[in-house]
Amino acid sequence: MKASNRIRTLTGTGDDGWGLFLRARAMKAAGEPVLELTIGEHDIPTDPRILAAMTASARGGHTGYAAVPGIPALRDAVAARLTERTGVPTSRDNVLITPGGQAGLFAAHHAACDEGDRALFIDPYYATYPATIRSVGAVPVPVQAVPEDGFQPQETALAAAAPGAKSLLINSPNNPTGVVYTPETLAGIARVACDHGLWLISDEVYDTQVWQGAHISPRALPGMAGRTLVVGSLSKSHAMTGSRLGWVVGPAEVIAHMITLATHTTYGVPGYIQDAGLHALGLGAEFEAGIAAPFLRRREIILTLLAGQQAVRAVPAQGAMYAMLDIRSTGLSGEEFAGRLLEAEKIAVMPGESFGVAAAGHIRVALTLPDDQFGEAANRLIRFANLCAARDGAD
Ligand code: PMP
Repeated sequence: MKASNRIRTLTGTGDDGWGLFLRARAMKAAGEPVLELTIGEHDIPTDPRILAAMTASARGGHTGYAAVPGIPALRDAVAARLTERTGVPTSRDNVLITPGGQAGLFAAHHAACDEGDRALFIDPYYATYPATIRSVGAVPVPVQAVPEDGFQPQETALAAAAPGAKSLLINSPNNPTGVVYTPETLAGIARVACDHGLWLISDEVYDTQVWQGAHISPRALPGMAGRTLVVGSLSKSHAMTGSRLGWVVGPAEVIAHMITLATHTTYGVPGYIQDAGLHALGLGAEFEAGIAAPFLRRREIILTLLAGQQAVRAVPAQGAMYAMLDIRSTGLSGEEFAGRLLEAEKIAVMPGESFGVAAAGHIRVALTLPDDQFGEAANRLIRFANLCAARDGAD
């Protein structure tokens, strides 16, 4: 028996670009000392206070089916957070609790798109986007944000792709580029969404990791709350990646339909995880700043190491747990460079090409090793790039 066409073609036909990551993992499994700067995962476990709340909840009996939309107290806490951040009055009816932001992205596209609808997203993009869109039967349409524009999506490009589309997915602070969208970029995005009747799906899972500028949720912009679905998560903000806890915030009528979807897919999130999440949110902004702080430190480490050399240029690293580096002076593609770096230096980074076409000739460095190891890896990476560039120049 054959699986459905839809599921067999979820990731499209080509290589999904994660070959290098798998190669690094295989080398590590074989005992090689690989320094991994690939995926977006903290180098610390979840805080003991959050784990204590989780354990107390489970021991206290919150181990049965939990309320499918989310427990009321957590929905209220997320609503209060969004009210504070967007200025838009938000209640629990605007909130669906999901097993992580990823399930939120799926539910949001399910709510926005019908079979065959065109769903726009920005290239470079987080790896799961195209398949998430395909999984609801919609057609992923990339709109490029290019290095020359500092990877800020341009209104003209969006307006050109928008006619006939149903939704636009954006992500700021951005994975993979580390760019935070400017107020002008967001105003352009809002204009295109309004002019073309698009749902705006705003992936804000990195909203606590902003180093330069300010995070603005497009839900806060005039006329946008009725057409915006905000996807959030505790994965990055609270180092809770494995707990699988996130949310979608949007208009109450749409959230009601998404609750029906949740009833027929996830059947909610475990109650003890939700209680832990509620406790985590209660730890406040200072706790969240503490989780984000190591990424800011490592950003400084790599920016300092990059000063005084020409071969590698940093894309302005305004937020999120990544640094995107332009290595085009080496004459290599991101994929070639990452492959050679892994062989020669046993350092694993993600090729820009694994995030679409707009980030070709770049590599994404996750700021996810302890400072000393990170500094060593960054130093060797930069030295290697300079050697490659010198060799390319000599050819
Ligand atoms: N969006 C972006 C941009 C991400 O980088 C990630 C995780 N790396 C997610 C969504 C999903 O996060 P989670 O499901 O863990 O909340």
